[in-house]
Amino acid sequence: MNPFIFVIPVALLMIGIELWVARRRGLQVYRLKDSITSLNVGTVSQFVITLGAGMNIFMYSVVLDKFGAFEWDTSNPLTWILALVLYDFFYYWVHRTGHEVNLFWAAHVIHHSSEEFNLSTALRQSATGFYFKWVFYVPLALLGFPMKVYLTVAFIDLVYQIWVHTQLVGRLGVLEWFLVTPSNHRVHHGQNEYCLDKNYGGVFSIWDRMFGTYADEREDEPVVYGVRKPLQSWNPIWGNVQHYTLMWQQIRSTTGWRNKLMCVFAGPSWLPPGATPAPEFVPEKFERFDTPAPGWMQGLGVFTCGLGMAVLVHFLLVAKNLAPGKALSYSAAALLAYLVIGWLWQRPRVLEAAHA
Ligand SMILES: [Zn+2]
Ligand SMILES: [Zn+2]
Repeated sequence: MNPFIFVIPVALLMIGIELWVARRRGLQVYRLKDSITSLNVGTVSQFVITLGAGMNIFMYSVVLDKFGAFEWDTSNPLTWILALVLYDFFYYWVHRTGHEVNLFWAAHVIHHSSEEFNLSTALRQSATGFYFKWVFYVPLALLGFPMKVYLTVAFIDLVYQIWVHTQLVGRLGVLEWFLVTPSNHRVHHGQNEYCLDKNYGGVFSIWDRMFGTYADEREDEPVVYGVRKPLQSWNPIWGNVQHYTLMWQQIRSTTGWRNKLMCVFAGPSWLPPGATPAPEFVPEKFERFDTPAPGWMQGLGVFTCGLGMAVLVHFLLVAKNLAPGKALSYSAAALLAYLVIGWLWQRPRVLEAAHA
């Protein structure tokens, strides 16, 4: 059975607890439209990733069968610990590449597009990264780690990262030295100058310390969450493709093959010669994206989100037995529902802009 079926209720419970604790402390760390969008993005990614997971498993098993070098004793806990540490090392490079190569940033940016930071942000996962990420884990297959070890440590690595998306847990002393924690992951989600391209680890922060990408949270400068080119949308489909379209526009308007290639493979902050740099980022001046939406529209959003999750759970339960055509139409129907709600929430803004 797909383990994500269990992740969904646990994550929702954790979100409920975080909301309750925040309210008791008088803190506002959630905004409805933002959190619903995060959950919708998570649901969309699960639909797509479930369809794409077959490719990941297929490629791993091909390499493992043909080139797997060693036999591993899966009854020995050290096998699992070593696999987790190695997986996390490769995750560091997947994640770092996802920030420092524009093409891969186009896939990962959705995770950073929320301007809030809470447990729902953890579920804002990319639907488009699966096509390249598997390549980074090929060394595990070459080392001969069995499929069940690979899939289990991948799952542990991902699930570990849920709890670090919270503002309610402060610094954790000695754990900050070697683990990814809420504090150092808050830095990762910041757009302040000192936060950019920092803290890529999944479970362990040691890789960041080894490769010079570690930064501690600063008390004198609160983290401003989000990205420098804001998404400004509640649409989970658009969130997954927006940066690809920006990249395409940049390629079209840039002259020369070298520059066009740089648009794809340089870092997201690279600018073609002659382009005007973005104005300096001033944390105090940053305004979070919002749109007016009447109560009924917000209620409809919550209802659609819940319905989408219910359909997803059903899909995850039956996906294995579905013919590819049916699985695709399932996903297409869910994606269509999200397009509608994304459009609805955006609508007052569109109307406002039209009247301006
Ligand atoms: Zn990231
Ligand atoms: Zn994160």
